[in-house]
Amino acid sequence: MTQHYDLIVIGGGSGGIAMANRAARYGARTALVAAGPLGGTCVNAGCVPKKIFWNAAHLAGQMKMAEEYGFDTVTPRFHWARLKQQRSAYIARLNERYAQGLDGNGVTLLRGHARFSGAHRVDVGNTLLEAEHILIATGGQPVWPDIPGAGLGITSDGFFALETAPRRVAVVGAGYIAVELAGVLHGLGSEVSLVMRRHHFLNDFEPMLREHLMDAMLHQGINLLALRQVREVEQRTDGLYLHFHDGDCLGGLDAVIWAIGRRPNSSELGLEQVRISVDTRGFIPVDAYQTTSAPGVYAVGDVTPGPALTPVAIAAGRRLADRLFGGQTDRHLDTHLVPTVIFSHPPIATVGLSEAAAQLQYGEEAVRAYRTTFTPMFRAFSSDPEKTAMKLVTVGPEERIVGLHAIGDAVDEMLQGFAVALRMGATKRDFDDTIAIHPTSAEELVTLR
Ligand code: FAD
Ligand code: NDP
Repeated sequence: MTQHYDLIVIGGGSGGIAMANRAARYGARTALVAAGPLGGTCVNAGCVPKKIFWNAAHLAGQMKMAEEYGFDTVTPRFHWARLKQQRSAYIARLNERYAQGLDGNGVTLLRGHARFSGAHRVDVGNTLLEAEHILIATGGQPVWPDIPGAGLGITSDGFFALETAPRRVAVVGAGYIAVELAGVLHGLGSEVSLVMRRHHFLNDFEPMLREHLMDAMLHQGINLLALRQVREVEQRTDGLYLHFHDGDCLGGLDAVIWAIGRRPNSSELGLEQVRISVDTRGFIPVDAYQTTSAPGVYAVGDVTPGPALTPVAIAAGRRLADRLFGGQTDRHLDTHLVPTVIFSHPPIATVGLSEAAAQLQYGEEAVRAYRTTFTPMFRAFSSDPEKTAMKLVTVGPEERIVGLHAIGDAVDEMLQGFAVALRMGATKRDFDDTIAIHPTSAEELVTLR
C-alpha cells in the first residue's frame, strides 16, 4: 500500500524538522522519516549537550574567581555522571517537544531509514511513500582516521556517552569540535593535550582569533602539540598511547577523541535511483534554492556543502517551505555574512571576512582594520586577567564593515546584534555614532580608534 504526500522529509534533525513543520503549517500533506532521535545531531550529540557541558566548565572558571569578589573560598566537587544524567533528562524533554510539535502541525512521523526507490518514491522498510517534493536532510557523522588502533579512540558521539571524566585525554583535530571539547574537558578538571597536524588550529578563521586562543589555552595549562600526525594508537596497561609519525609518542591516556571533521550521510540513500551524484567528499550539490540535480528533490543542512551549522539548516528548510508551499517564489537562503560562535574558553565570535580575505577580495589599499586588546573589568579585578581581543575589517572610503571578530568573555552573546548591523551595511561611522554602553566589553566595538 503506497502512502501519498505533498512532501516527504528524510531526516528528523534541525533542517528536516524545520521544513516539515513550516510546510505542514502551509497545508502541505507532510511525512517525516526519522532514523535517529528527533532533533538530530544538534539536540542529541551536538550543540545542546555541548553547551550544557560548556556552561559547567564556564561556571567552574567563574567559581575560581569568587574569592576575589568577596566570597569564602569555593572548592566544589564536580560530578560528571550527575550532570550527564540531568543533561539526558533535558534532551529527552526536547525529543518529546519535537514529537509534539510535529504532531500538532499534522506531520506524519515514520521511524526508520528512508531510501529512494524511484522518482518521487521513498521506501521505509516495507512502507512505500510517494510525493511530488522530497527533502534530504540526513546530516552527517564524525570521520574516523584510517590508522591502526583508531577504534581505541572515540569521536564526539563517544564523548557525550562518557560516564566519567577522563583523567588524561588527548583531543586530535583542529576545528570547532577539537577546541571546544579540549576547553570543556580542561575546565572540568581533565589533563588535556590537543594534537594538531599543522602549526595552528582554526586555520580557516581570522588569525587573530586562534593566536589569542592558543595563548589562553597555554596559559590555562592545556598541552598544545603542533605538527603531530598520529600514526597508530596502542593500548598498554597504563592507558592508551598515541604514536606520531615523527617517532614521538604521548601515553598514559584514559581517552583519545578524534575531532578531525564530519562526513555527510549520503551513501545509504539510494541516490542512484534518482540520478543524484555526490561530490568527491560525499556532499549533495544544491543550487541557491536547495534544488538537487533531480526534479522535485531538495537537500539542506550538513548533507550539503554549505556551512554546517544548525541555524543554517533551519533557515534553509524554512525558506524552502516558504517557496514551495507559501507562494514566496524567490525565497531562498542567503549564506552571506553567517555569524558563528566557537564555544572555546574564552569563546570566539566571528562574522564576515578576515583581514587577509578582505584584502584578497577588495585589494590591500581598500581595506582598513581596527583592533583592540584589553582586560575586561570582570577579569581586571581578579588574578586571572585573561584578555579580550576584537577586530573590525572595513572596506572602501565609506569604511563598510565586512568582518567582525572577537574573542573573550561574553563575546558569544554579543555577536547576534552586530551581525544584524553588518547585514544592513553598517559602516565604521555608524558604529562610532552609536552610544556606548558602559561599563561593558561590547562598548569597545563602538569606540575603536
Ligand atoms: P542532523 O541534525 O544531523 O539530522 C539528520 C538526521 O537524519 C539524523 O537524526 C539522522 O539520524 C537522520 N537520518 C540520516 N539518514 C537517514 C535516513 N536514511 N532516513 C531517515 N533519517 C535519516 N551547530 C551550531 O550551530 N552550533 C553549535 O554549537 C554546534 N555544536 C555542535 C557540536 C557538535 C559536537 C557537533 C557534532 C555539531 C555541532 N553543530 C553546531 C552542528 C549542528 O549540529 C549541525 O549543523 C546540524 O545538526 C545539522 O542539521 P541537519 O538537519 O543537517 O542534520
Ligand atoms: P572541522 O571541519 O571544523 O575541523 C576539522 C579539522 O581537523 C580540519 O579542519 C583539519 O584541520 C583537521 N583534520 C582533518 N583531518 C585530520 C587528520 N587526519 N588528522 C589531524 N587533523 C585532521 O570539523 P569538526 O569535526 O571540528 O566540526 C564539524 C563541523 O561541525 C564544523 O565545521 C562546524 O560547522 C560544526 N560545528 C559547529 C559548532 C559551533 O557552531 N560552535 C561546534 C561544533 C561543530 P587542519 O587542516 O587545519 O589540520
